[in-house]
Amino acid sequence: MDGSRTDIQNHKLARAEHSKSPQLEEKNNMAHISYSQLSLYNECPKHWQLNYINKVSVFRPSIHLVFGSAMHTTLQTYLDTMYNSTIKNADSLDLPNILYESLGEEFLKSKAEHDKNPCTKSELKEFYQDGLNIIDFFKKHRNKYFSKNWELLGCEIPLDVELKNGIRFIGYMDVVLRHIPTNRIKIIDIKTSSWGWNKYQKADKNKTSQLLLYKQFFSEQENYKLDNIDIEYFIVKRKLYPNADFPQKKIQTFAPAHGKVSMNRVTNSLHNFLNNGFDENSEFKVNQIATPSKSSCKWCEFNQTEYCDKGVR
Ligand code: SF4
Repeated sequence: MDGSRTDIQNHKLARAEHSKSPQLEEKNNMAHISYSQLSLYNECPKHWQLNYINKVSVFRPSIHLVFGSAMHTTLQTYLDTMYNSTIKNADSLDLPNILYESLGEEFLKSKAEHDKNPCTKSELKEFYQDGLNIIDFFKKHRNKYFSKNWELLGCEIPLDVELKNGIRFIGYMDVVLRHIPTNRIKIIDIKTSSWGWNKYQKADKNKTSQLLLYKQFFSEQENYKLDNIDIEYFIVKRKLYPNADFPQKKIQTFAPAHGKVSMNRVTNSLHNFLNNGFDENSEFKVNQIATPSKSSCKWCEFNQTEYCDKGVR
């Protein structure tokens, strides 16, 4: 079966009710992994161990997380309305107010979780203005990115797939569309970025493999042919270079290579993680090896602390 509309209609969820720390992860207390875990493990297994096994990570709430979540809500609300009601209704939504309210909600949520403000008032103000500029561009150019020939299968559609020995993969897809004339699927991940992705970020497999894994698991979960699934990062930029002598857009789209070779690379890295991160009883394997590198250690909170003396600066 190649995943007919009926197969996936069951998963046509209009904004699944979940927070970004999902309830699914607690399901039956089973071991679970997310793409963030795999990505961290690929960067440095020791960093993964400190975060997920030793749980000594210090989570740093920030304006970037608050803004990212609020921008997701704003764009997804527009797309929900556009595809499930009308373009006219979507265009008449008060998106600036949706963004404003969402920023406030995310701020309070983060404050309640971490017992401190995630950002300052002036940061909130600056990011809100950046968000307004993105909304303005998005509304003017929306039809270049989202058009009528598509059906919205849902926003925040959950992926919940058993991998081995009870370990599950949990993830949420930001936007999933079906192209009605060809029945092709497009999985979109929304990223908020200060300046967009440059050639180094686009070439960073650890950054771009998330959607390849989502494609693999969407195919398995929905019984849909891999060849009929496309993926795309939808990157919204807060800033544009001043005085640039080339045209700039507030939205950048990027589809990483996702043919057989690339898909095999990602599934191999997942198997490597499962084999080296967990034992046969699905318990964490401790004593992970540090693999220091400039790029991995640069942002590591354990660099040159009591937890890791191998980090490089
Ligand atoms: S400092 Fe570098 S080597 Fe040490 S845990 Fe962090 S990423 Fe790994």
